[in-house]
Amino acid sequence: MQEAQGMPHRGATATGSGRTYGIAAVNWRESAACRSEDPELFFPIGDDGLSLRQIEQARAVCHGCPVVRACGDWALRHAEYDGVWGGMSAEERRSMRRRRTAGSARSPEA
Ligand code: SF4
Repeated sequence: MQEAQGMPHRGATATGSGRTYGIAAVNWRESAACRSEDPELFFPIGDDGLSLRQIEQARAVCHGCPVVRACGDWALRHAEYDGVWGGMSAEERRSMRRRRTAGSARSPEA
């Protein structure tokens, strides 16, 4: 079981990726729809077969979550590499980070 990965349903512990964060920065977790879900649902082992089904089940929880945007932003800002956050799989977040990095590299400096 991958407990305390910083997932919102584990409360304000905020120990994602071995780092700790201030409680004020993680208050959105208190409204997380996944607080009562099995954390393993949000951490599929692979990215095919049964894991794809698991990702879709986790996303279904995220789609009804009132803090989906805050959660996704958190995961992107803090480079959470594993699990489903903000309705996004790990691969989707990697792609988004690559696009953001490529976009900022092309932007002219102010
Ligand atoms: S968006 Fe998903 S992972 Fe994030 S807090 Fe809501 S239910 Fe949990």
